[in-house]
Amino acid sequence: MDRKIEAERRRIAAVYVDVSAHGTDRAFDYLIPEALLSEVKVGSRVQVPFGPRKLMGYVAGFPTITNAKRLKSIHHVLDLTPPLTPELVGLAEWSAQTWLCPVISVLHGMVPAVLKGRYQRIISLPIGEQGGISELADEGEQKLLTCLQERKEVTEEYALALPGVTRSLLRTLVEEGRLQSDIRVGDQITRKTRTWVLPGVGDASLQEAMEELPPQASRQKEVLAFMQARPEGIPLPELLTHLGVSRSAVNRLIEKGLLLREEREEYRDPYAHRSFKQTTPLPLTEEQQRAFDAIKTPMVEKRNHSILLHGVTGSGKTEIYLQAITETLNMGRQAIVLVPEISLTPQMVERFKGRFGDRVAVLHSGLSKGERFDEWRRIRSGGVEVAIGARSAIFAPFVNIGLIIMDEEHESSYKQEETPRYHAREVAKKRCQIHDAVLVMGTATPSVETYYRARTGEYEWITLSERVHGRPFPRMDIVDMREELRSGNRSIFSKSLRSALNECVDRGGQAVLFLNRRGHSTFILCRECGKTVDCPHCDISLTYHRTNGTLRCHYCGHNERVPESCPVCGSSHIRYFGTGTQRVEEELTRLLPGMRTIRMDVDTVSRKGAHERLLQAFGEGKADVLLGTQMIAKGLDFPRVTLVGVIAADSMLHLPDYRAAERTFQLLTQVGGRAGRHEAPGRVVVQTYTPEHYSIRMAAQYEGEPFYRQECLLRKQHGYPPFCEVFQIRMSHPDLASLMQLAHRVVGDLRPLLPEKANLLGPVPAPIPRIKDRYRVQIMIKITGHIDGKSRWIEALRKIRTEYEDINLRVGVDREGF
Ligand code: ADP
Ligand code: ZN
Ligand code: ZN
Repeated sequence: MDRKIEAERRRIAAVYVDVSAHGTDRAFDYLIPEALLSEVKVGSRVQVPFGPRKLMGYVAGFPTITNAKRLKSIHHVLDLTPPLTPELVGLAEWSAQTWLCPVISVLHGMVPAVLKGRYQRIISLPIGEQGGISELADEGEQKLLTCLQERKEVTEEYALALPGVTRSLLRTLVEEGRLQSDIRVGDQITRKTRTWVLPGVGDASLQEAMEELPPQASRQKEVLAFMQARPEGIPLPELLTHLGVSRSAVNRLIEKGLLLREEREEYRDPYAHRSFKQTTPLPLTEEQQRAFDAIKTPMVEKRNHSILLHGVTGSGKTEIYLQAITETLNMGRQAIVLVPEISLTPQMVERFKGRFGDRVAVLHSGLSKGERFDEWRRIRSGGVEVAIGARSAIFAPFVNIGLIIMDEEHESSYKQEETPRYHAREVAKKRCQIHDAVLVMGTATPSVETYYRARTGEYEWITLSERVHGRPFPRMDIVDMREELRSGNRSIFSKSLRSALNECVDRGGQAVLFLNRRGHSTFILCRECGKTVDCPHCDISLTYHRTNGTLRCHYCGHNERVPESCPVCGSSHIRYFGTGTQRVEEELTRLLPGMRTIRMDVDTVSRKGAHERLLQAFGEGKADVLLGTQMIAKGLDFPRVTLVGVIAADSMLHLPDYRAAERTFQLLTQVGGRAGRHEAPGRVVVQTYTPEHYSIRMAAQYEGEPFYRQECLLRKQHGYPPFCEVFQIRMSHPDLASLMQLAHRVVGDLRPLLPEKANLLGPVPAPIPRIKDRYRVQIMIKITGHIDGKSRWIEALRKIRTEYEDINLRVGVDREGF
């Protein structure tokens, strides 16, 4: 292209602006001022005028338009290096298209939280105004104006902290035109710096200066001699402690110009205080070698390829990941490792740090915002080559990806359950296509979709059927809880689980007791009228919390005291039902006194670092039993665990979710993998009210293949993914009649636009029909075959939020199964 046209072209930037309002989900054009031409790049964060406001936005490209006269200009560029790469901007557009959400919502998810715009009000003197202070001004006004003469501008926060300055004073001064007030995009970046000292003159002059120092200045001499050997400098605190000299000795040398002081930016390394034992590659087993070769071949050929690494727990998948990553790095490319948040345990981090040391950045929710930002910057600047993290790490800003590993591929946490509702697996596939990279999905229990795609040849399917140490899988016993009831045992614990626990602990082993998620579980039931105590704002029963004797709603946080009599019939025959973790713990203590228990659930791990601490205590043998929700189901590896108990295997089967059987199967299989990983043989006891259900029966027999066949058959019959795609429209509104009216309008408008093979169901009440005083309904569209993202019905779906404008309506669209 002609250079002149190219230059002209670049004078306009398309910008996604940080607003979410009607008709704003598109890029807006802005002029790039001359002075910013070299700075504005695709992926830059900029401040732009938008209506009366000044907002943050991301540059998406440089369109050619003919009439640029009426365009406004970009104000500033916020970062020296654009936080996003052109690839990521394109990926955001693709994701927004795929999951029917605003592009800006995806862009926001790609950058660390500290870069998300924070709008600050800036107070300054009007141009040309000297800020003359009248004699009559009160204290606040004087303080403020004096301050502004010195500093030119301050944030409103800062101004309000000055003695005597109030909001009304600021308003008055602005109205009188004596002050100017402006909104500016700031961010919450804090960069950490450290003072370094380095030689201020050349080696010869340093030597000379040393000789000229008087004998009593021996400390200074010592410092100079030390610095002579360190032309690259040393952090000041280290110098002081190393030589045991005083700060003033160093300061004197700085004053003389012999040393220089420098503030250097430093990355916070969340793992700085930890040392990791360096590990080396293990010689691979035959099975591992085959898997490794299958990954390496397409990687060397720089060919986009997807692999399902289907290996039983303990088959050595992680070692394969490590060696495959080494290959990638040797090729000068980078790797992303995705793990579910709950598996990002110290043990996992240790394995990657141990192999790759400083070349790894770790991104997880336990880090402070500043630490996360620094880890992210190390990725962006090319300071590291491996990024390991939960879901959002898929957006790691690498520019030359060779390998993406997705461990525990089937985990539901890879799907984000709020806007943007992306699935990390699909984003990973897309990035691998862009980079001609290899995607490895590792799991012992693939999702049904992935299994089906591997079956049909869309993915390469590699199985690892042996455990590295050849240990057999633990026996899984199913206990029919209906039988227990019939024989008069009303406890949460069956006779077999009780005796297994006793036996395990007697022999010096440890046990893990697994209970499905909190909530739904401990509720209060009136024995006279059968009513449960429900939340007044949500259609769901309240959960009983023993520690403070309250009933709490897990959806809206509503809290009330336990009633002494039934709120419906007045009967005093009230009893607690269900099995919350707290109740299991109590019953355990009652049945087996002396058993030491660690309970892990949302209540006990909410404090920062609590998760790690509890696990460590268990690992050190400070308890006999680890009791918890699904956060303990996977990833852990404790040598002394010989028993795993599942309290209620079918609690998930009754959820209105087409994945219920799949989840139950996966969970039991994963739980089985926790026992007997080491010398001691393991045992699993599964309690259930539906022992005949195929997911439970087949998991107990380790019948993976039959289970997947059966599940695929059922999904095909009933029309669920992977045999179709499911679009779910969720609508909520405080008024039930208005909601139903709107929902029927949506259905009426959508139906004629749908392709023939589509199946629209609803509106029907959502599984929880009311939350926080808002009624909820859902509409489902099942559809087979290729979906054209530009078709009219997709466009209509995308616009529901704005087309059916009702101030109280909230709409979410979800897409699954492609
Ligand atoms: P997975 O990730 O499939 O559950 P791991 O990678 O955790 O399996 O491996 C299980 C155990 O086997 C680990 O303790 C690991 O160090 C060990 N291991 C893996 N590969 C080998 C090998 N080739 N030789 C010896 N030990 C191995
Ligand atoms: Zn509630
Ligand atoms: Zn009652």
